[in-house]
Amino acid sequence: MRYIKQEIFSKIGKENQLKLYKSTVSVVGIGALGTILLDILARSGIGKIKIIDRDIIELSNLQRQTLFTEEDLGKPKVVVGKEKISQINSEIDIEAHLIDLDHDNINIIKSDLILDCTDNIYTRFLINEYSRKNNIPWIYTSVIGSKGMTMNVTKENPCFACIFKEPRQALETCDTYGVLNTTPHALAAIQATEAIKILTGQDYNKDLIYYDLWKNEINKIKIRKSKDCRVCNGIYSYLEGKKLKGTIKICGSCNYQIKIDNINMEDLFNKLNKLNSIKTTDDCLILNDIIFFKTGRALVRAKTKEKAKAIIDRYLG
Ligand SMILES: [Zn+2]
Repeated sequence: MRYIKQEIFSKIGKENQLKLYKSTVSVVGIGALGTILLDILARSGIGKIKIIDRDIIELSNLQRQTLFTEEDLGKPKVVVGKEKISQINSEIDIEAHLIDLDHDNINIIKSDLILDCTDNIYTRFLINEYSRKNNIPWIYTSVIGSKGMTMNVTKENPCFACIFKEPRQALETCDTYGVLNTTPHALAAIQATEAIKILTGQDYNKDLIYYDLWKNEINKIKIRKSKDCRVCNGIYSYLEGKKLKGTIKICGSCNYQIKIDNINMEDLFNKLNKLNSIKTTDDCLILNDIIFFKTGRALVRAKTKEKAKAIIDRYLG
């Protein structure tokens, strides 16, 4: 009974509903797009969903990140996401990963389809190479202001690197341009519909879709494979760890992420516990201005990169 309205819909039916149930997808990034997409996919009966995110929930997220409420502030997005989705559909399997997706842990996203809901171009190039190399389709989607773009990256379609150039400097992000909360809803609806088409083996969109909600304009832009594309020619720099991320500003929050090598959480806990009141979870140590993750990274609340580094030095020095 749960999926009756979808099974009556002629493009899905009972047979395709079963295909959805047998599918595994990975949702990378549980922000605005990710929460909305997760809600849609779980309700539509995708059998297994892997969720990957590195961040915690902040007040400024609640304007658009629909799964979260005020009582979730300060908790990791994947933990709350899994909890909420299990309440929506207990018949499906949700696997939560509180990690910063990178070349050394990328195998976690092995699935039938990868859904990009990140806010950073580095991760998109990484997913693109993983997907090309392992022949797994993925769907790129981004939103900014009242505008959004989405593109299916499949064997038949050009790859992300055929179309987009690698950034030489930081790109405009939602921190500088903001985002209208209707934009991720519209783009997640397109992304989820394309996901359902791909997972059920039906004809899907081959163009780059550009949607401006404020102007009510939707454009389909023809795209072509590039002969000189590095990735299509089998060169995987991101996947081989030749492109390093370093310190990054996380979009939509005041947090900087800094990688830390050889962190012994127990030692750190004992040391910091003498100085501060610390909250702990299975995966992290939470202090007022910093969160240390077991996986060797920290999220620091600071206005600039330099201030973030100074805070880290204060705790680790
Ligand atoms: Zn390419």
